[in-house]
Amino acid sequence: MNILVVNCGSSSLKFQLIDAETEHVKASGNCERIGLDGRILYKAGSDKSELETALPDHAVAISKVLDLLTDPEKGVIQSLDEIHAIGHRLVHGGEKFASSVVVDENIIKEIETCNDLAPLHNPANILGIRACQRAMPKIKHVAVFDTAFHQTMPPKAYLYALPKEYYSKYGVRRYGFHGTSHSFVSRRLAELAGLDYENSKLIVCHIGSGASISAIKNGKSVDTSMGMTPLEGLAMGTRSGDIDPAIIEFICQKENISVSELTMILNKKSGVLGMSGVSSDFRDIIAAADDGNEDAQNAFDVLVYRIIKYIGAYYMALGGADAIAFTAGAGENSSEVRKAVMEGLSAIGIKMDEEANKKRGEEALLSTPDSKVPVWIVPTNEELAIARETAHLAF
Ligand code: AMP
Repeated sequence: MNILVVNCGSSSLKFQLIDAETEHVKASGNCERIGLDGRILYKAGSDKSELETALPDHAVAISKVLDLLTDPEKGVIQSLDEIHAIGHRLVHGGEKFASSVVVDENIIKEIETCNDLAPLHNPANILGIRACQRAMPKIKHVAVFDTAFHQTMPPKAYLYALPKEYYSKYGVRRYGFHGTSHSFVSRRLAELAGLDYENSKLIVCHIGSGASISAIKNGKSVDTSMGMTPLEGLAMGTRSGDIDPAIIEFICQKENISVSELTMILNKKSGVLGMSGVSSDFRDIIAAADDGNEDAQNAFDVLVYRIIKYIGAYYMALGGADAIAFTAGAGENSSEVRKAVMEGLSAIGIKMDEEANKKRGEEALLSTPDSKVPVWIVPTNEELAIARETAHLAF
């Protein structure tokens, strides 16, 4: 059984064809610049190719992907009959979706009611579903939501201290994101640490260009650092994370800009990029800080300090922790970020193994045997998680 995993952005369509039994990735790629000039990056085994081709819309993009997958030379399957289901990544499922679902017309309508909450992402995700449904109408399409895993949070974690009607009228509350990753990584963390997932207290630190931390008790998310949108919480590549909300009016008045302009700045020009003026990539920040750039050092320190604060908060929220995981780009690969975080966690008895912390991108125990809480690298794999959910619902 082959599952095609599709992740549509407003001008991109990422895909992976995964064998559901062996979990082997047969082919993967990215259609970029949809609506502009168009380009497809495609990888099958060790063969990589780059095709400049017109991609006027998502429908054309998916039909070119299907052509590539079945191409006599570059393809990995003989015919489209060898694609047995499609799993779609959806950013926002609001309160309507606490788990993945098989898509039909009613489900699409329900998803559309969540568009207000993710106006940049959800419409693009839906475009992708419709394009794939038209191209492959006979198979099942499954929607897997970034927010679903966090629907188990209790009201005390998801409610903001705002007038109640903003929640009841508009759904203003914490939803949380990266749910597929937090779910996948926490399950694997429990296995690696020899814990019963249904009876464990886990903290997962997803530190990529977007970053979030979650507290998972007995297999259920009980708190997470991203909020109604992915802007809340940690300092990220370009996102500010937590700020005093009164700053918004203050800056808008001083700079004579609108709230939407400032929201764009908070999303795209803040975080370590805005603080340092160097880059949104943590590697560049670390290199610049090593060269004595004070702003880059401050950006690194803010990033790390906030991770430590959230872990501390979730340690208390959970009443302790049985294991902690680092995942995503910097979590899996940056010894510097992990070292600085673990050094800040000595108060809860965490001790880092210097040698182990040199590891990158592989499952590894980073803490010493006498560390009060074991700390692991657990590489995330959101596409595989989507493929598993899809196989579970489609067959
Ligand atoms: P992701 O969003 O999970 O793909 O993560 C991408 C981010 O991970 C990049 O923007 C980098 O900032 C960060 N990253 C990847 N490798 C390293 C590394 N070795 N050191 C520091 N940051 C890294």
